Amino acid sequence: MNDGKIRTRFAPSPTGFIHVGNIRTALFAWLTARHSNGDFILRIEDTDQKREVSGAYQHIIDSLGALGLNYDEGPVVGGKYGPYLQSERLDTYNKWAQKLINEGRAYADPYSKEQIEEFRQQAIANKRPFLYRLHRPENPPKWNGSTALRLKSEPKTYSWHDEVMGDLSSKEEAIDDIIIIKSDGFPTYNFAHIIDDAEMKVTHIIRGQEFLASMPNYLNLYEALGITRPVFATVPHILAESGNKKLGKRDGAKDVLDYLKDGILKEALINFIASLGWNDGTEQEIFSIEELIQKFSLNRIQQSGARFDQKRLLWMNGQWLRRLTTEELFTRTDGFWPSEADSSTDEQKLHVLSIVQDRIKTLADLPELTRYFFCEPTPNWAMLESTKPIADLSTDEINNLLQVTLKELSKSDFELTQLSKDLENLLVITGTKPATLFSLIRLVVSWAPFSPSLDVTLHAIGKERVLSRINLAINSL
Ligand code: GLU
Repeated sequence: MNDGKIRTRFAPSPTGFIHVGNIRTALFAWLTARHSNGDFILRIEDTDQKREVSGAYQHIIDSLGALGLNYDEGPVVGGKYGPYLQSERLDTYNKWAQKLINEGRAYADPYSKEQIEEFRQQAIANKRPFLYRLHRPENPPKWNGSTALRLKSEPKTYSWHDEVMGDLSSKEEAIDDIIIIKSDGFPTYNFAHIIDDAEMKVTHIIRGQEFLASMPNYLNLYEALGITRPVFATVPHILAESGNKKLGKRDGAKDVLDYLKDGILKEALINFIASLGWNDGTEQEIFSIEELIQKFSLNRIQQSGARFDQKRLLWMNGQWLRRLTTEELFTRTDGFWPSEADSSTDEQKLHVLSIVQDRIKTLADLPELTRYFFCEPTPNWAMLESTKPIADLSTDEINNLLQVTLKELSKSDFELTQLSKDLENLLVITGTKPATLFSLIRLVVSWAPFSPSLDVTLHAIGKERVLSRINLAINSL
């Protein structure tokens, strides 16, 4: 039906921001498609108008774009099975609903909310699961679109295969007369996604665990509609850092775009998200996008929940910050430089970046760690306390060390190799350890919490500015 091409989709609802869990589903679907030269589709499931959040639609598109998860068909780019917004596909759902009505497989729900609630309470009182189908009306009214439309289900047991969860089965009690079109005229997710996946020729449905319980009803609906089942892959929950609950907003699930704004590289974020419940069967932890595409397979997704670990994300970010060339990294730094660097050239910034690349943990460290290259920092002796090796030095000791440093460094030509030697020599002259003297010099030239290798730092700042900073430090003691 589609030349054997694998087609996957990401089908978010525009009901809030895109968090790590959503993006992981998108990533796994994207990787499945890219791995086999298939197609990846974006479909917006906007049939729950009450829950819609303004801006969420654009946010979905921006989030996929920022992470490089390009789609072959979907909003904006179009495609031959569009439209890709469910709210623009109501005719299609009505056509399929009508087919079910004509075949006696769907009926108008004659009950009020209160009546249904009464049935539910009766079931609870009788300690039985509530099944709407046990109250199915004998002669339902003709459906005029003003009430809900329900599937006339065929209760039976099911067995099916899930690429992640393995062979699964369900009992008759799992089948009920689910609503397919709501009284507001919009289809339910349960109905619409099956129609759309079929019409859009989706071959693999990759989605979160929350839909697993509804699988028996979906299978029943596939049969009623005469639609062949696609391949199913259920992705396990992402668990909060501690405890056994699903990662939620309160446990740090945040907007994926915020991670990028916080200075996490997209490579690191993708690598991290891919590792939430997936590995390639080896000890490898760092994967480029290309490697993920090459190695990804649904059957290596784990069945149990994957633990979210913020520290691991930062570690991966560190790995990626060092892995990119300075030139590549530089292309990601827009918006992260301190305002003091505004008038600096790209060459100057690139040079500073090459110096601090080994030190930063996220791009958001750039202002604090580079500001002193672009402007004269203000002495802040309060920082002495948190600078371990020198915290205990007396003012006199500091003064003496800085005076000697000033004198010796004024003789240096500040050529890098020579400067390194001059600094070593300073240790001999003062009889101090690098941890003491170099930490002190580092502090008074940068007034930053930490800086790269001292010789490189001093060299980049330049002789004149280094000497004037030491002078200023002495005077402010
Ligand atoms: N609209 C559903 C959601 O956002 C999509 C589930 C699916 O992938 O089928 O959770």
